[in-house]
Amino acid sequence: MEHKLALIPGDGIGPEIVREARKVLDRVCEKYGHTFTYTELLLGGASIDANGVPLTEETVALAKESEAVLMGSIGGDAATSPWYKLEPSKRPEAGLLGIRKALNLFANLRPAYLYKELKAACPLRDEIIGDGFDMMIMRELTGGLYFGERKTIEENGVKKAIDTLTYDENEIRRIAKRGFDIAMKRRKKVTSVDKANVLDSSRLWRKVVEEVAQEYPEVTLEHMLVDNCAMQLVKDPKQFDVILTENMFGDILSDEASMVTGSIGMLSSASLNETKFGLYEPSHGSAPDIAGQDKANPIATILSAAMMLRYSLDMDQEADAVEAAVSAVLEKGYRTGDIMSEGCTLVGTAQMGDLIAAEI
Ligand code: NAD
Repeated sequence: MEHKLALIPGDGIGPEIVREARKVLDRVCEKYGHTFTYTELLLGGASIDANGVPLTEETVALAKESEAVLMGSIGGDAATSPWYKLEPSKRPEAGLLGIRKALNLFANLRPAYLYKELKAACPLRDEIIGDGFDMMIMRELTGGLYFGERKTIEENGVKKAIDTLTYDENEIRRIAKRGFDIAMKRRKKVTSVDKANVLDSSRLWRKVVEEVAQEYPEVTLEHMLVDNCAMQLVKDPKQFDVILTENMFGDILSDEASMVTGSIGMLSSASLNETKFGLYEPSHGSAPDIAGQDKANPIATILSAAMMLRYSLDMDQEADAVEAAVSAVLEKGYRTGDIMSEGCTLVGTAQMGDLIAAEI
């Protein structure tokens, strides 16, 4: 079957890591008899250079015509790149925020998975790590405190800043459904994180999540207060499968969860809308310091491509094969510089892509 995909190579190491992910996807097509057609789109600095703006209507329209978008990363070195002499709304990052908004991507997924071969990079003690952990943080991305009304006023000579945290039940329901759908593809447990002992928005969150849970009798639901969750992530990360939470809590907890896995070059992510469509990208930036040197770790992008197979194309078997190939290559001791340790074999970006593709 033919699938239409869009690729955004982007800036810095973006083109190198997307090239390797495409290599792996091509191998998946060969092995499983699929045909993927790719449209390359410009975003960020690459779009500024070609079109004078970080995002064009053409890029949005072509992304919408695709089943999913796989992105490298965008942006340059803020100290030296001419892109950062432009006003903020014309800089590379504005393109990224613009495309997320245009595609209505309200659900952000960030897995935190510890490969046993990379245990040494995990800052937690061995007895806490055990056999490793495998969780998925599902963060609401377009509501809450970051999108509420805000202002700074002065009252009787005293400055006062106000930010508002708003959620309506529809916003909560759609992200909760997404969270339970993802849990159905995993170990069928959802931990909904809130601050329901204090916040009204959290009390509504909890009520709606409980309603949605009725539609998923196979999934176990638990509620956890955000302060407790921050502790539990470092005390016993193994207990988590899907963590479902609002925008700001998710922002903080997903960074905490990714740090306990240790390596930035390994972390994938997805942003989804109400349909099967998603934008898939590594959690790291464009690493201009190592761009064009065959040093970048392509694994986060390759694992993002695996998420794309699983969540946008419903190709679970193919996604499993890509993830297993990454594990196999790590098991054989191949490492890019960022995850290198004694006794392993150092490889470049292109060779890492070749090795993973060959394992499929
Ligand atoms: P960064 O993630 O690009 O780099 C931080 C450090 O990690 C650097 O030393 C880099 O060499 C290293 N690193 C990152 N990814 C790596 C990989 N795959 N393999 C090996 N090493 C890797 O963060 P930064 O330096 O703060 O930002 C650089 C640019 O990226 C900025 O313009 C920033 O705005 C942009 N950025 C983009 C995104 C995105 O596209 N979603 C996200 C974050 C940052």
